[in-house]
Amino acid sequence: MDEARGNARARHAVIFLGPPGAGKGTQAKEVAHRQAVAHLSTGDMFREHVSQGTELGLRAKPIMARGELVPDEIVLGMIEERLMRPDCASGFVLDGFPRTLPQAEQMDRKLVTLGYGKPVVIHFVVDRSSLLRRLTGRRMCAVCGRIYHIYDRPSRMPGLCDDDGGALMQRQDDTEAVIKDRLAVYDRQTEPLVEYYRTHGKLWELDAGAEVESVTKAVMKILDGNGNR
Ligand code: ADP
Ligand code: AMP
Repeated sequence: MDEARGNARARHAVIFLGPPGAGKGTQAKEVAHRQAVAHLSTGDMFREHVSQGTELGLRAKPIMARGELVPDEIVLGMIEERLMRPDCASGFVLDGFPRTLPQAEQMDRKLVTLGYGKPVVIHFVVDRSSLLRRLTGRRMCAVCGRIYHIYDRPSRMPGLCDDDGGALMQRQDDTEAVIKDRLAVYDRQTEPLVEYYRTHGKLWELDAGAEVESVTKAVMKILDGNGNR
């Protein structure tokens, strides 16, 4: 029975789609943990490359600082390599990927070759003023990447992660000027994917403006309804 459940789950790929600050990372960490599947954040992967000073990181750094998208071929190469690792075998939650039509189309082809069905796509919907408040107040643990908010989800000790005591950092692209550009990039390049998945996949609209715990419940309900347990 458990094996059958495991096999059923292995056929599912989940995509969290939505603008910067919609809560995708916060929910992806929780949901991937609960479902024992991999959490794949392309933004986290790029930040890791930047902090390690790899060749890929050196290319991505100025693009990320401007709030633009890293070229498709770089993102696709990175994610395809990541999908081959063993922790992806039981399924995965994609957070911040795909972000362009070519990325989505290539991912669809990749999922077929990996034996997955159509991805379960959850569209996080949040109003713009909340996005701005969330992004300007976001802080991240420099050690484990746990996400906080200075007012709405503060750590117990100011500036320090509850889990490992790591320093909480503000992302360089979480300034008002870059946020404005990132939201424009989202509208132009990523928002069209909502329509793409409405016609090519399974798309669920999610009210992501609610408090974190009730958003998690709503996500779990969608995934449970898809035989994802
Ligand atoms: P994304 O990955 O979509 O860019 P994050 O998960 O990093 O978004 O969340 C952005 C900010 O909003 C963080 O500071 C996080 O603590 C906060 N946040 C996330 N979800 C909620 C929520 N439901 N209500 C209030 N704040 C939230
Ligand atoms: P995120 O952490 O998802 O907000 O991503 C941070 C930055 O990484 C983005 O602003 C882009 O510059 C880059 N990035 C992350 N994911 C992608 C992607 N799928 N395609 C292109 N660029 C990306």
